[in-house]
Amino acid sequence: MNYFDTKIEFLKGVGPQRSDLLNKELDIFTFGDLLQHYPFRHEDRSKIYQIREIHGDMPFVQLKGSITNIETLGEGRKKRLVARFTDGSGAIELIWFQGVNWVVKKLKPGVQYLVFGKPTFFNSRINITHPEYEVLTEANEQNRGLQPVYSTTEKLKKKFLDSKAIAKLQINLLKEVHDKIHETLPSYLLEQYKFVSKREAVIGAHFPKNTQILQKAIARLKFEELFYVQLKLLQQKNNRTVRYRGQVLSRVPTLNEFYKKHLPFDLTDAQKRVIREIYQDLKSGHQMNRLLQGDVGSGKTIVAFICMLIALDNEAQACMMAPTEILADQHYQGLKEFADLLGISIAKLTGSTKSSERKKIFAGLLSGELKIIVGTHALIEDTVDFQNLGLCVIDEQHRFGVAQRAKLWKKKSKASPHILVMTATPIPRTLAMTLYGDLDVSIIDQLPAGRKPIQTMHWYDSQRLKLWGFIKEQIQLGRQVYIVYPLIEESETLDYKNLMDGYESVDRAFPEIPKSVVHGKMKPQDKDFEMQRFVKGETKIMVATTVIEVGVNVPNASVMVIENAEKFGLAQLHQLRGRVGRGAEQSYCILMTKYKLSKDGRVRLETMVKTNNGFEIADVDLKLRGPGDLSGTQQSGVLDLKFADLAKDNQIIKEAREAAQSVIKKDPDLQQNEHRVITKQLSQLMKKGAAHWGRIS
Ligand code: ADP
Ligand code: MG
Repeated sequence: MNYFDTKIEFLKGVGPQRSDLLNKELDIFTFGDLLQHYPFRHEDRSKIYQIREIHGDMPFVQLKGSITNIETLGEGRKKRLVARFTDGSGAIELIWFQGVNWVVKKLKPGVQYLVFGKPTFFNSRINITHPEYEVLTEANEQNRGLQPVYSTTEKLKKKFLDSKAIAKLQINLLKEVHDKIHETLPSYLLEQYKFVSKREAVIGAHFPKNTQILQKAIARLKFEELFYVQLKLLQQKNNRTVRYRGQVLSRVPTLNEFYKKHLPFDLTDAQKRVIREIYQDLKSGHQMNRLLQGDVGSGKTIVAFICMLIALDNEAQACMMAPTEILADQHYQGLKEFADLLGISIAKLTGSTKSSERKKIFAGLLSGELKIIVGTHALIEDTVDFQNLGLCVIDEQHRFGVAQRAKLWKKKSKASPHILVMTATPIPRTLAMTLYGDLDVSIIDQLPAGRKPIQTMHWYDSQRLKLWGFIKEQIQLGRQVYIVYPLIEESETLDYKNLMDGYESVDRAFPEIPKSVVHGKMKPQDKDFEMQRFVKGETKIMVATTVIEVGVNVPNASVMVIENAEKFGLAQLHQLRGRVGRGAEQSYCILMTKYKLSKDGRVRLETMVKTNNGFEIADVDLKLRGPGDLSGTQQSGVLDLKFADLAKDNQIIKEAREAAQSVIKKDPDLQQNEHRVITKQLSQLMKKGAAHWGRIS
């Protein structure tokens, strides 16, 4: 057995009761678990302040001195212990409201203490409530510096397992395991990046002598963490290429016909390039796993359709999976336009597809008569089977993740279907590397020619008359206008009211102009009817909730007004803005907000005004929200990082990726001697992962 798997119960200072608590409260079961319960910060105890130096708003201070007087004051809830503490330069009060009886027994006047806490001013006197204190000894006076702070819980604290107590356990543990901490990175990487050894890093992360040592320890642990994430992703990628045969999709007669007769516009160079990249994969005989990124309006739909044609040209079928019904519907509409040109059969399957229709679709997919199917999760249900699924396009929006993708490979086919993952809006490079690190990447980094950049303005609600004037002007020029209200997720009723209030004020401002209104409570056919009126130009203003985020394409609509814009996330604002700027006319996006905004809200709006570039916007978004907040990423598992921060550690992510790439390239099966440390560590990580799942279920 691995020494680190020793039950925590057997550590000096733990025993059965504490072990039970550590299991339940902190998920700590073994020596290894405790060792990896790293402090979340360190307190600088290197400096000892003099009492006369203390002034208002200092964070934490450490003092050295003795107690001259102790008394218990007040009764009942106001009962408190007040100790007068002096160091020769001045005096302050130390105050306890809790544990009074316990503290009073321990504090001794005349004894020298080290005291640590946050000073506050009360009645023009300085005091520290609930300070930490310990009797001054030679050891703790010498051995100051950075002190670890460990996360703990109320329950543990009640049983005296506070941060300090955990630190003591860590000291006991490190004594035991010190000689058994072995290296987990190959030595040439340590040399290349000048990393400290694993042992130094572990000790340095718990008990650093100074901040420099702490930084070095953390830098190495971050790298190691990201390196193994990348290594696993790249191994998966590598295994798939070797293990899964892909159908060879090389013939392209229909595609040629489409190019010659039906192509509605010239493809951009970027579109042509990614189609070439994808075609290389499709005809290679290996299964494709590729991520297609492109900004809003960059023309991903036609690229997806062209790839589907390649599948169809080789007696295979194609599917497109979207995370929501609305998105599935949009993709269906977009693809059907092209499919109809060639008389290709296409259908849509979602949770709301009627069972009679469903039966027809299932039969069509099984016989191979139905060539393209667009849908939601419904597509990965076990009941859906294909005659031969050749290509699956997934519109992810960070929502599906690796596990669901894997399900698709199991669909009945001659060989695993090729997978093309698309994202609706760009995601930052480093995040993509981690979330989609097992995929190859193609990027459409160019918009179709002739598009004028959208002008974005941020106006306050007090400028409403200016807004009405602007809208009137644009409509007189023959354009159409969207006015969008936020979805209030908690309350459909509020949502509706918000929209209807808005509609009334629009109606008062433009009584004579025909308007459409679309919201989530409408029946699909009514929604469609209103949409169609706007598409045909019968109505000039479309008042809507965010349903139009993914609505139809209306090139003549050149103004996007977003009300309560502060309530939208950056990605959504960018998506909405992408609804205009599709025609030849100059387009505008006007962000309306109240005057008072949060700091983040202001950054979002400024970013929108400053740039039309989705990749830039994604970077800001990641910095503002952090990766954990991006919808759906939590379940993906890869973001369960202890040290690294995907929003901040760009450089380390790149280095870890490069290092992992070079390892896999040099030694794909990790058989070389210098990589023994890697295989050992990987199997440790696997075991831990498995054990963790075992505990949860
Ligand atoms: P997105 O990448 O946001 O999904 P779409 O595929 O919906 O973008 O394309 C946006 C619009 O641009 C559509 O109206 C589409 O027909 C059009 N389009 C796509 N590619 C080109 C091109 N090369 N030239 C002109 N228009 C194009
Ligand atoms: Mg699209």
